Amino acid sequence: MAALGVMVNLVLVGALLVPLAAHAQQPQPDPKLTEVWEPVPRIVTPGVGNAAPSDAIVLFNGTDLSEWQHVDGGPPKWKVAERAVTVVKSAGNIKTKRAFGDCQLHIEWRAPAKVEGDGQNRGNSGVFLQERYEVQVLDSYNNRTYSNGQAGSVYKQYIPLVNASRKPGEWQTYDIFFRAPRFADNGTVVTPGYMTVLHNGVLVQDHVEIKGTTANVGVQTYQKHNPKEPIMLQDHGAPVSYRNIWIREL
Ligand code: MG
Repeated sequence: MAALGVMVNLVLVGALLVPLAAHAQQPQPDPKLTEVWEPVPRIVTPGVGNAAPSDAIVLFNGTDLSEWQHVDGGPPKWKVAERAVTVVKSAGNIKTKRAFGDCQLHIEWRAPAKVEGDGQNRGNSGVFLQERYEVQVLDSYNNRTYSNGQAGSVYKQYIPLVNASRKPGEWQTYDIFFRAPRFADNGTVVTPGYMTVLHNGVLVQDHVEIKGTTANVGVQTYQKHNPKEPIMLQDHGAPVSYRNIWIREL
């Protein structure tokens, strides 16, 4: 039995050696042929923790709303305190003075520690890309609502892959990677928008195709707009806070 085992082993080794030998005889392609040296990526100094990297535009650093205005123009009336900005009920949405197309947006938000209301009435706000496409902000910690309207949803379009919510009163992060839609002159969509979203570092939207302008009622469709439009934050009546908002244009 032992001799048979050795023979089997020799046959196996032989079977391995033959293709190896054949392979060794072939000319080896030069690894340099697949090296690409240009362009050289420009240098960006990353931030520490969630701080803005060196090429980001800081939209809110905790002290003032100089990058923001009321949605209809004029000064925003949300409250800045303790390095955060908080929705003031009925003060209206606020939007950036600058406009953006393709971008990476970092924003931190906090639903009120004092739990009031339920469903859509608990800690509701929203981050609107291009003043139109909402990533829902909601206290979705032990708070059931329709799944395509909970935190991390692309509102009424895409259910988040998971519920990565922290408790009310705790700071949470969204990192949103946005590709703006492209329109033809006649208003038809050449390329739809796309979004990828991390909620507290967890993937909740994976390159989803935006269906149109966010709407609470009915089918969402596109309406042609400028290649760049402001970021908007929603006043939905709840005192949701935001901090550390920065954006990188792509
Ligand atoms: Mg909302």
